Amino acid sequence: MRQKRTAHQPHLGHCPLCGYGYEDDAIEVLRRGAFTTILHAECSQCQSAAILAVISGMMGMVTTLGMLTDMSRSDITRFWTAGEITADDVLNAHVMLESKMER
Ligand SMILES: [Zn+2]
Repeated sequence: MRQKRTAHQPHLGHCPLCGYGYEDDAIEVLRRGAFTTILHAECSQCQSAAILAVISGMMGMVTTLGMLTDMSRSDITRFWTAGEITADDVLNAHVMLESKMER
């Protein structure tokens, strides 16, 4: 029997604000790198927007970082096309998120 395809992408997690699972069509890939994919997600429940960074590490480990943003999609596209993503960008985002979580 064919399994029904789930509308949600579990590895992309849920809206940081209301916990609603992101739907496929709420997610847009902004940039796709060798190890990092940057996504913009809009929550269909609370209309919040978040930037998601999906980082593929060694041994197939995938880390997803989420940052709420009030930037519109066009702002973000401009922001991300301004330069290449470097390892430093990813590291900075990670450090920032971790320091927020510890508080
Ligand atoms: Zn939400």
